[in-house]
Formats: sequence, structure tokens, C-alpha cells
Amino acid sequence: MPVRLDAPCVTLVAAAGRGVRGGRYARLMLRSVILAASRSSQVERLVATAPFTRDVVRRFVAGAGTDDALRATRELVADGQAVTLDHLGEDTVTPEQANATRDEYLKLLRLLGAASLTPAAEVSVKLSALGQMFDEQLAYDNARAICVAADAAGTTVTLDMEDHTTTDSTLDILARLRKDFPSTGAVLQAYLRRTESDCRELAAAGSRVRLCKGAYKEPESVAYQSAREVDKSYVRCLNVLMSGDGYPMLATHDPRLIAIGEDRARWFDRGPDRFEFQMLYGIRPEEQQRLVGEGYTVRTYVPYGDQWYGYLMRRLAERPANLAFFGRALISKK
Ligand SMILES: Cc1cc2nc3c(=O)[nH]c(=O)nc-3n(C[C@H](O)[C@H](O)[C@H](O)COP(=O)(O)OP(=O)(O)OC[C@H]3O[C@@H](n4cnc5c(N)ncnc54)[C@H](O)[C@@H]3O)c2cc1C
Repeated sequence: MPVRLDAPCVTLVAAAGRGVRGGRYARLMLRSVILAASRSSQVERLVATAPFTRDVVRRFVAGAGTDDALRATRELVADGQAVTLDHLGEDTVTPEQANATRDEYLKLLRLLGAASLTPAAEVSVKLSALGQMFDEQLAYDNARAICVAADAAGTTVTLDMEDHTTTDSTLDILARLRKDFPSTGAVLQAYLRRTESDCRELAAAGSRVRLCKGAYKEPESVAYQSAREVDKSYVRCLNVLMSGDGYPMLATHDPRLIAIGEDRARWFDRGPDRFEFQMLYGIRPEEQQRLVGEGYTVRTYVPYGDQWYGYLMRRLAERPANLAFFGRALISKK
């Protein structure tokens, strides 16, 4: 059946043009349209069959299989970087899917250990992929099984953070996991108004906290809306984490925030074993190498698997220039 450029797709492509050329308002509108599209199965079908999709996906995703994940990890570790691996998939709706995701992580961790890629490589896990949306206990049990496997392989787990409706549940599960696996990492999103306070709670000895800006479409009631407010919140949170007793993981590609991170590392005398920078696979690789060259610990977040759609759309929402490229591909399909 031919793929139609129906309403959401037309809106997406039209918004791409305006957002890339336009000012701050147009860019904000573009971001919301793409994030809305990340939930549309119509747009997903269109994107999956667009001619340039493979090239765009390949830039941000290591590949579909576990062997692709291992290959990308080997290359990054050889370049002096640490890695966190994410098996793509979210919003799982059946226990079978949730258990299959758990089993993929168990297999991955066995292979990472056998290849001596731990502790340089750890794993990042989305609780929604482990059943959080329909059975919180199942998500906890699956996450715990992954923590057991990570521990056996000599490495750790970080729980990704999803939209704000899951924050409390994710932090509750984190607290339960940390009783037996204290190095389990948390993610906090600077765009949420609550995050500075969450940082204070979690900036304790032994606590690993990844600080990112946040990648979901969130309402004003819970999240700062402007880039300036989000950046200011990021700096406040960074100060709390870097001056605290935990292990901060500064996840950003933003040159100004990276410079502030370097400054605070000097100020608080934090060497490469007391905090790290984190960036996404395929984004600013030269900057990743520059930081490695400066002696910092840099961890690359490496996604793999065939469920790449939601992840790719969030990356496109962050950078209109990537979308213009993609928008041309969608139009040329017609
Ligand atoms: C390791 C890691 C883990 C993450 N985990 C989570 C999580 O669990 N939950 C969550 O909500 N979010 C997560 N994120 C995403 C994060 O919230 C942001 O959406 C994303 O990092 C973009 O924000 P930024 O800080 O890089 O700043 P931005 O203001 O978006 O970007 C700053 C600069 O970085 C470059 N850049 C940024 N994005 C791109 C891109 N897509 N393509 C090309 N260049 C780009 C550009 O030069 C841009 O000007 C994670 C990010 C990282 C790095």
C-alpha cells in the first residue's frame, strides 16, 4: 500500500521548514510537533520507509543486533571512552515483551563481561521497556535481574528517566534497587521544576546521578519551557551535584554547560574518577575525543536495536538542522 503524506506528516514537514529558518518561537513549535509525531504510528510508518532513513538512523544508532552493540563498544573503548548501552524499546505493553527486553540485557551483559569490556561498558535501562506502564513490580523484578547480571559482569546499571508521569515511580524503584546495588545510577532532567530538589536528595556518597536537560514534551505546570530557563536550572543542578558527595554524570553536548562542568571540576577538585561527561552516540564525536584528550572520563550512550523510532525523533527534535535533512527525504518520497 502506498504511504500517504497525511495530516501529521504534512504538519511535520511544513513545521520543519519554518522551524529551521525561523526564530525561537518557530523552533519551539517545531520541537513540539516532532515530539508529538514521535507518538504517531502514521508518521512512524512514513519515516520507516523514507529513502534516507537508513543513513539518518545509522548516524545515531549502532545497529540492530547485539553484535553491532559490541562492535561499537569495542571501537569506543579502544578510543579511550567509556560506554553505556541502551537496547532500544519503550512503552512495552505485555509481560512477554518486558521479559524479552530483560533477556536481551542479560545476554548483552554476559557478552560484555566475556569480552572484557566491563567495567568500561555499563547499561542504561528504560523501566517502561521492562513493564512499568502496566506492572510496576514486574519492572522492578526485571530491573533487579539486570542489576544482578551487571554485578556478575563487574559493571553497573543506570535507569533512564522518561516523561514526568513516571518520575516518582522510577525514583521509588531506584531506591529499592540501591539497597542491594548501591551503584545503580539515576537520571534527573533539568527541565523539570522539581529536579533541583531531587538533586539535593540524591547528591549523597556513592550515588551516581546523570544530569540531562530532558527530552520529552512536558507541560508548563511541571517543566521550564524556555531554553534559557532550562540552562539556568541545569547550572543550579550541576552546582548541587558537583559540590555534593555523589558521582555526577554530566550528560550534555552544550558547549557552555560543558565549559561550566570543566570549571566546577577544577573548583571542587574533582578528578576523572570523581565525575564524568556523557554524550550520545554520533553527536559531537570530536568534542568527545577532545575531552578524552584533556584527561576527562567521557561515556558515550550507545543505542542499538530495531525499535529506533522514538529515540530518533527525540534526537531530531533537539536539532532542527537534522530535521531539514530528514524533511527533504520525506518530501522526496512523495
Ligand atoms: C548520555 C545521555 C543520556 C541521556 N539520557 C536521557 C534520559 O534518560 N532522559 C531524558 O529525558 N533525556 C536524556 N538525554 C537527552 C537529553 O535530555 C537532551 O535531550 C539531549 O542531550 C540534548 O540536550 P543538550 O544538553 O545536548 O543541549 P542542546 O541545547 O539540545 O544542544 C546543545 C548543542 O549540542 C549539539 N547537539 C545537541 N543535540 C544534537 C543532535 N541531536 N544532533 C546534532 N547535534 C546536537 C548542538 O551543537 C547543540 O547546539 C540524554 C542525553 C545524554 C547525552
